[in-house]
Amino acid sequence: MILFYTRKDFSDRRGWKTRRWEHAFAEKDMIGIFAPSVYERLTSYKFVRYESTIVHETCHVYYMNIVHNFTPKWLAEGLATNLEQYDYGWRGKPRVDHLYFMKIPFGEDELEFYRSGYLITHMLIRKLGMKRLMSLIREYARKPVKTNYERLFDKFVYAKNTD
Ligand SMILES: [Zn+2]
Repeated sequence: MILFYTRKDFSDRRGWKTRRWEHAFAEKDMIGIFAPSVYERLTSYKFVRYESTIVHETCHVYYMNIVHNFTPKWLAEGLATNLEQYDYGWRGKPRVDHLYFMKIPFGEDELEFYRSGYLITHMLIRKLGMKRLMSLIREYARKPVKTNYERLFDKFVYAKNTD
């Protein structure tokens, strides 16, 4: 994990002029985030969000290590948004997911993307359980991108659960 103490260092690392809502990121084997001491001052988030952000970004590292890329993007993002909620709740407050999304300072398209990714992944977790969803992801990882994942999802969603 790399901690950042200035917006400039964070932007230099990302390679563009980042905005205040950009507060953390995942790379192949590590995450980057603003240091606790400067987090609220240099980002648009409250510190209560800090630990759940680390969970979220770590989930991306984990996903990248299994699938070796970030596809399907809605699932990679949906898994991270669901897992950050499990342990910490949205911004430390469980069960207010819609409010959480309304406060994400993204554009409409990004907001819609995060919400739909969250919801469909949430339903998959409810339907399959986390263990079988991880089996599905591992099966997808054998032929990522080229896989007809709609068919793969059907196979899991409509299969009898034999676990
Ligand atoms: Zn994410």
